[in-house]
Amino acid sequence: MKIKQEIKLSRYTTIKVGGRARYFIEIELKEELKKALDFIKEKGLSYFVMGGGSNLLIDDKDLNIAIIKLTYAFLNIEGTRVRVSSSFKLPRLINVLIKEGLSGIEELAEIPGEIGGAVMMNAGSFGKEIGEVVSEIEIFDGRRFRRLGTRDLVFSYRNTNIKRDWIITEVNLRLAKGSTSRIMQKIQEVKEQRRRTQPVGQRTFGSVFKNPDANSAGYLIERCNLKGYQIGDAKISEKHANFIVNTNRATFLDIISLMNTAKSAVYKRFGIKLEPEVIILRSD
Ligand SMILES: Cc1cc2nc3c(=O)[nH]c(=O)nc-3n(C[C@H](O)[C@H](O)[C@H](O)COP(=O)(O)OP(=O)(O)OC[C@H]3O[C@@H](n4cnc5c(N)ncnc54)[C@H](O)[C@@H]3O)c2cc1C
Repeated sequence: MKIKQEIKLSRYTTIKVGGRARYFIEIELKEELKKALDFIKEKGLSYFVMGGGSNLLIDDKDLNIAIIKLTYAFLNIEGTRVRVSSSFKLPRLINVLIKEGLSGIEELAEIPGEIGGAVMMNAGSFGKEIGEVVSEIEIFDGRRFRRLGTRDLVFSYRNTNIKRDWIITEVNLRLAKGSTSRIMQKIQEVKEQRRRTQPVGQRTFGSVFKNPDANSAGYLIERCNLKGYQIGDAKISEKHANFIVNTNRATFLDIISLMNTAKSAVYKRFGIKLEPEVIILRSD
């Protein structure tokens, strides 16, 4: 276990925004979690588990919390069953699955972040959600490790019933045998579609808002003529209105203001309240 201080969280988020956390604790073995949480409790702090930081908007003021970051990684494949550490990068996992001819999450190609973060968010794209293939997870609930199976887990749109203070340590997936060429073809389609419609390669945190029932948040924001609208260095993407791009040195407040602008405009015009998909971590 490494307990660090003065670590700027902007380094760890895809939008490149985020201040310093009081402690940044790297967990190198899952058995260290108990000790880490005891340490945090002793300091009277709360904690936040960070995955790949690809769905996070973190305050750029200093945060009086401890960040937990799992740094160990393992992957075990037996037939169609996959056992993987929560810290394993999702794109890296998909690359291995292509080679193994295992099908089931190729639609999620290009979603950055880790498999633990994907499970927590029930990440999805192109009609597939990770929850559909999760057979079991292991979590640390602050006192002990527990295994939760399909009967315990409830996945819904970008949400699960996994408690926010539980730490996912392992994910088990049940996939299907598929043909490598077909899987690769699907991934190619997904990549092309994303490049056509999303600001790929720019600093973003993915979708800003959840899609409201039967509507697309991007379409609603676009209809309010907000594509390209900018506050400070935060800009509503010209390619997809449900993405905010950090064009240079966007601040937390630039992004929050832009989100509020989009939210009020959509509410005023359509009477629809947009809910953030991005997880927001404030300093107070
Ligand atoms: C360019 C781009 C495209 C994207 N496209 C999509 C998309 O198509 N579909 C989609 O669903 N999302 C998309 N996202 C959003 C994001 O990539 C996903 O939500 C991703 O699954 C988050 O994983 P992460 O590891 O980065 O989690 P983080 O952003 O680090 O964290 C997200 C949440 O998960 C929790 N968490 C992370 N790891 C753990 C753990 N081990 N135990 C407990 N809690 C944990 C965090 O506390 C936080 O609440 C996109 C993001 C970007 C930047």
